[in-house]
Amino acid sequence: MMKETFAELGLGKELLAELAVLGYEEPTPIQKAAIVPLMEGRDLLGQAATGTGKTAAFALPILQRIGRTKAVANKPFALVLVPTRELAVQVSEAFHKYSKGLGISVVPIYGGQEFRRQIIGLDRGAHIVVATPGRALDHLRRETLDLSGLQTLVLDEADEMLDMGFAEDLELIMEATPKTRQTALFSATLPPRIASIAERHLRNPSRILIPRDKGTKGSVPKVRQTAYIVPRSHKIAALGRVLDLESPKLALIFCRTRIEVDELADRLVGRGYRVEALHGGMSQVERDRVMKKARGAMVDLVVATDVAARGIDIDHLTHVVNFDVPSSPDSYVHRIGRTGRAGREGVAITLAEPRELRLLRNIESMTKQKIGVSTVPTPLDVKARRLDITKGAIREILLAGELDGFRVVVETLAAEFDPMEIAAAAVRMAHEATAGESANEDDVHIPAIESFSRPQSSQRGPRQDFAPRKFEGKGSGKKPRSWDTNSGPPGGGAGGGERGGERSRESNPRDMVRIYISGGTRMGIRPADIVGAIANEAQVNPRGIGDIEIAEAFSIVELPEADVDHVIEALRGATLRGRKVKVHRDKGIRS
Ligand code: AMP
Repeated sequence: MMKETFAELGLGKELLAELAVLGYEEPTPIQKAAIVPLMEGRDLLGQAATGTGKTAAFALPILQRIGRTKAVANKPFALVLVPTRELAVQVSEAFHKYSKGLGISVVPIYGGQEFRRQIIGLDRGAHIVVATPGRALDHLRRETLDLSGLQTLVLDEADEMLDMGFAEDLELIMEATPKTRQTALFSATLPPRIASIAERHLRNPSRILIPRDKGTKGSVPKVRQTAYIVPRSHKIAALGRVLDLESPKLALIFCRTRIEVDELADRLVGRGYRVEALHGGMSQVERDRVMKKARGAMVDLVVATDVAARGIDIDHLTHVVNFDVPSSPDSYVHRIGRTGRAGREGVAITLAEPRELRLLRNIESMTKQKIGVSTVPTPLDVKARRLDITKGAIREILLAGELDGFRVVVETLAAEFDPMEIAAAAVRMAHEATAGESANEDDVHIPAIESFSRPQSSQRGPRQDFAPRKFEGKGSGKKPRSWDTNSGPPGGGAGGGERGGERSRESNPRDMVRIYISGGTRMGIRPADIVGAIANEAQVNPRGIGDIEIAEAFSIVELPEADVDHVIEALRGATLRGRKVKVHRDKGIRS
């Protein structure tokens, strides 16, 4: 029988209690598949993108096993390797979140942070170390990290780590761990390089793979599907605008956890909607009350978890909104199937963070249906839409006639004012009375984020989210070639064909610019050091980095113009291979 709950998966009561506090109602598919084998100590190869719940899929078994073996923290029990500093922080926060009160210590170590602080953390004893490969290796070399007692090694986002040039580091780190360790490898994609690592380092792994070209269970309903790519911090403002633009009769908005449901419902009430929350923490009586109100059209928005919304069937439900990308294509299909009932057109809207794009693409390929990506409406769009609504209402009144009682007011005012002005004033009054004013938070600037499935625009730059990045001139020792203005920026993948033509002379934030770094092969600098430093110190997405050319005494790196100043500033205070470097815009000859 498929295990459906966290308790059935065999997690201990402390962890179950923590998950309940966090409002997790049921395990995601990757958790259902991975937790049992990992708790049994088996190796695992998991194909999972961000947003599937993969962090908990490996973190919960590790915590459970540490608790069970009563491991002491003199040597790390588990090491989780991640590609970036951001992820190191995120993953160690997840461990903290799940292990409150368990007395388990987690230490993140990543480039850019002082060694001393990390050494103190490691000396105090760590059950779990979450590290970027470069820094983990540095600690191994300094003998401040001892992996001789390691029980579990997790390679998280393995494809990203290889893309960043960490392959060699990973091998060296694995050599420093016992052969008997358990290894779990998670990767969004499984190119041959990953398969090769898996083959060499995993023993009879349990495999959790996204099947190729296999449709999802059940048929996908005919629903207009749109996604908006928005950073987390702007999600509520974006949702507000999208709702204002779409003016749903009734929308069902999905969140991942009970806590998120309650929080979002509160925020939306504050924006003047009639909102009800629906989740598994509510009694049946409360849930029935919400459903009754929804059916009776006394609610505009129902904010719900998957579990609570299962089986909801309301004819006038016009919109389904995924506040986050759902953790699996099946869940997406279930959710959007709540709308488009009784032959009516339904609308499904998904708010995705940039890092969840891959998950969205998986859903597209599994459902074989396109999810159009739109830019979040601007406050002006919303204003125009509100005016449209007012205009429609006025038109209805004009068609209905029966204005005699009001004509006299116009006639009196017309002695003093122009009739057009009088009409405009009346429209304004009607508009303000019905549409109200948008919340202040709507006026924030929500950055537009280009995405994989948008048609290529002429100003499209190198930030192809899924484009392969290339490193050129690695350690060649030669003088790097000069900048070729016609070659266009590197890193272009699908659809980048229009590049290489005319490039605007004006500075475009997406243009590639080169920076000079005063260190090269002589200092032992490799592409991974540079990428790691840029990602960690400047917190810049490494996928935007173009060519990296490393000569004997210096390196040249191509970056989008928008990131350059910030990266230079950040790298100036940083060290590469333990040495300070000079960084400035490259003044090399331009042909
Ligand atoms: P991840 O794919 O690990 O980055 O997780 C994505 C998000 O899903 C995180 O915000 C988690 O806190 C959340 N999450 C993970 N597992 C569950 C679950 N079973 N129920 C609800 N939320 C979850």
